[in-house]
Order: sequence, then structure tokens, then C-alpha cells
Amino acid sequence: MTAPMQLRGLTVRYGEQLAVRDVSWSVPSGLVAIIGPNGAGKSTLLKAALGLIPHEGEALFFGQPLDAVRHRVGYLPQRQSVDWDFPATALDVVCMARQPRSRWWGRLPAAERAAARAALAEVGLQDLADRPIGQLSGGQQQRVFLARCLAQQADLLLMDEPLAAVDAATEREIIRVLRRLVEGGRSVVAVHHDLASVPHVFQHALMLNVRSVAAGPVAEVFTPETIVKTYGAPVAA
Ligand code: ADP
Ligand code: MG
Repeated sequence: MTAPMQLRGLTVRYGEQLAVRDVSWSVPSGLVAIIGPNGAGKSTLLKAALGLIPHEGEALFFGQPLDAVRHRVGYLPQRQSVDWDFPATALDVVCMARQPRSRWWGRLPAAERAAARAALAEVGLQDLADRPIGQLSGGQQQRVFLARCLAQQADLLLMDEPLAAVDAATEREIIRVLRRLVEGGRSVVAVHHDLASVPHVFQHALMLNVRSVAAGPVAEVFTPETIVKTYGAPVAA
């Protein structure tokens, strides 16, 4: 089977600084983690793979350049402390995924809106669909963006710290959704920083610290030795 994502010699520099160095990685299907300390280049790796920043090397998705399969790939950026004071509702935000090339605030066909509502229901937010995004908690916003990825019906989701700073209930909910996606044949690559939960949640991992330290099944690569190599020091898991 063709890998959902394949990186070949991916290298990113910010000026003089090497942020990602010559990473080659064939991403398997399933639930896959990118693990590494702050500043390891995890976000940079995803952005470069998606062609959002200048880089050397290449990324293929399902064996093809992104342009050929863009609709099959979804991206959840790392949560910023964005001040959401524009008037979009949760439903509007999900609808952007359904109609990326049109004005998202325009009227959508009823079927499109129904699909967006279904995606919100899948993440347990059906009752908040008409709430302005700025009035939702951080964890709820994160679930809205997850719903947007679901509505896009992408075959591969690249998620940058989907579980960062969410409460335990939200974390369980998001993991449940990700597992269901994978059971349905989708693939998820998530940047993850909570080492303790890695073995419970993920099947495969890339251990990254600018370069690739190790990649493979979690049972093989998520070992005390590689954790030390990746973090540069023992880390309490
Ligand atoms: P991670 O997501 O693993 O925490 P990042 O990919 O965000 O790491 O950053 C990797 C390194 O590149 C860090 O040292 C960071 O300071 C630097 N960096 C990230 N984005 C930029 C940028 N836009 N300009 C300059 N340096 C950056
Ligand atoms: Mg990051």
C-alpha cells in the first residue's frame, strides 16, 4: 500500500538555524505520533511537508505531490492564542471545510450544513453549533477544528498538538474520534508531547530532534534509550 505520507530528505532552515535536518520518513497507516522536545522542529516538519514554508527535499501524499491530492489531506495547525473576535459561529468554521473555495459566510446548500452539523455532533458539540467561536472554551474550539477536519473527510489528518491544553474529558473525546477515524481506514499523524500517554494512544512514532532519532512501531522506538537521545536527558514519562 502506498504510504499516506512520505518525506524524502526534508530540510528546513530559518536563516542560519537548521530547524529540520534531512528527515526521510515513510508514514504508515494508523495513529502516528511525532514526539520531541520544544523547538525540535515538529511544527516546522508538518508545515514543510504541506508546502507552507520553504524547504529542501520533498513530501509525497499517497504517492503523489500534494497538489494532486490536496482534498485527501487535512491539517490542524498548532493552537495559537488567537483572539477569535470575528463573528463566525462554530458551524461556520466547520463549513469552511465543506466549501473551501467559496465565501464561507455565504449561504451553503442545506446538505452541506447538515454534514457540518453531523461533524459537530461527532465531537459532541451539536448544541454549540450556533455559538460564536470566540465564546467557546479552548478545548471546545479545538473540537470545532477537529470537526472541520472530519467534515473535510480527508484520508490523512496532520494534527499539531491536538491534545495540548485540553481537559481530560476533551482529551478522551478527541482520542475516541481519532480511533474511530483510524478504524475507518483513515490515517492520523499528530504532534504529541505527553510522553505518558504515547503507548496507550499511538501505534507508530517518529522521535524527532531536528533530525529523525527513530521511527517505527511505538513498542520498538518508544524506549528509554531513544527518549534520552531525543530529549537529550532523561524525562519523566
Ligand atoms: P516544535 O514544534 O517542535 O516546538 P518548531 O518547529 O516550532 O518546534 O520550531 C523549531 C525551531 O525553529 C525552534 O528553534 C523555533 O524557535 C524555530 N522557528 C520556528 N518558527 C520560526 C520562524 N518562523 N522563524 C524563525 N525561527 C523559527
Ligand atoms: Mg510546535
